[in-house]
Amino acid sequence: MNKNISVHIKNQPLVGTIERDSFLFQEEFMQLGIGKTYCVLNYGCQANVRDGETLSGMLEMMSFQKVDKIEEADVVIFNTCAVRQTAEEHVFGKLSAYKSYKENHPGRIFALCGCMAQEENVIERLLKKHPYVDLIFGTHNIDRFPQLLQRVYEEKQTIVEVEAKPGGVIENLPVERSSSYKAFVNIMYGCNKFCTYCIVPYTRGRERSRLKENIIEEIRTFQAQGGKEVTLLGQNVNAYGKDLKLEDGFTDLLIDCAKTGVDRIRFYTSHPKDYSVTTIEAMRDYPNIMKSLHLPVQSGNNEILRRMGRGYTIEHYFQLFDDLKARIPEITFTTDIIVGFPGETDEQFEDTLKLVDHCKFDLAYTFVYSPREGTPAAKMPDDIPLSVKKERLQTLNARISSYAKANNETYVGKTLEVLCEGPSKKNLAILSGYSKENKLVNFKGENIQAGELVNVEITDAKSYTLDGQAV
Ligand code: SF4
Repeated sequence: MNKNISVHIKNQPLVGTIERDSFLFQEEFMQLGIGKTYCVLNYGCQANVRDGETLSGMLEMMSFQKVDKIEEADVVIFNTCAVRQTAEEHVFGKLSAYKSYKENHPGRIFALCGCMAQEENVIERLLKKHPYVDLIFGTHNIDRFPQLLQRVYEEKQTIVEVEAKPGGVIENLPVERSSSYKAFVNIMYGCNKFCTYCIVPYTRGRERSRLKENIIEEIRTFQAQGGKEVTLLGQNVNAYGKDLKLEDGFTDLLIDCAKTGVDRIRFYTSHPKDYSVTTIEAMRDYPNIMKSLHLPVQSGNNEILRRMGRGYTIEHYFQLFDDLKARIPEITFTTDIIVGFPGETDEQFEDTLKLVDHCKFDLAYTFVYSPREGTPAAKMPDDIPLSVKKERLQTLNARISSYAKANNETYVGKTLEVLCEGPSKKNLAILSGYSKENKLVNFKGENIQAGELVNVEITDAKSYTLDGQAV
């Protein structure tokens, strides 16, 4: 079937003032989903999961009903991630795999949004190879989703509406949270760091912070509904408030979030360059700020860090790490590491292993470097053979895993507070949840509901999980 296509791609200079607006829901959209169902497929990071909750919130306002299975949904949203080429190929693969669902039910709407939609080459490929996608919209106009969906139903043509711009802040967006006791709360959007391998500043725009009062209000509303754990989200949370000309904006925000009294506060992601001593002190001083930190390092070698554009040296990272450990001895660390960055020698990789020996991370998200089209690093020769990259990854993972296991063994015999998430995904007979230290704990216990804070005595340790018994 050949459909007409309406394409609206707005390119604005990627600098400029931040637009602040409030989401307005027009009553006419309330009828759109009566008797219809939806399914949101989230790919990628927490920011996408949170966007998925906003899209679900809008669809619920439009009277759509949520279903878990794509084959039962009248509207299917592919909320995509562009951080790695493999992530994109995964989504293209899913679109091909689900093509028959669309062909068998032509009234079913396929919509694609998120970071992939911000890339012109992706839009071209979608229109050419996947013409059955009805709606493509970007990260900057998520608030226009109801209007765009209505247009798809009315005009029966493919709608593409994507804007490349510094980005704005829209408040009062609806939310349908995937958990009643754990919440992601955006504190800022975008990133100004421009690490040479990363596409995020191009797909999510420049750093822009939400106003503190709106963040606190969102937390208080969640807390009043029985919420227990809040994760403050941003690509670089430590830069919160810089665009608002705030002095030490993140620490100030963190303290005010702690003062709401919500049981647990986490934040994600931190950047070593912007991490301040006052933030360390706030983590130490407020019991409801969790003592677990994701602090991406990416490499243990200064030359590689310089070419990655990370903006810090390994000496700076060690100093920050050691300072955090000295002030908060019980703190746990996770990190991100890339192996096989262009030009990485055996010696430079050895520096990354030395870093791991020093930091003994509890967990690391490790990746083999692959070039991302549109980034400066993609122009560097990708000269490390895949076999070498894979070998380095294996060595690295084995090293990290041995430290993770040793760290976990120190918890055996101790009692940890766990936020129960219900039955374990792998074994319905036991419960699971995360401790304050962000350890996944599988435990035995009776009459415990998801959302309850439970004391669990740890009986056994594996590399990345703990076993225990509720006490
Ligand atoms: S800090 Fe670097 S890696 Fe992280 S989102 Fe920003 S540009 Fe990407």
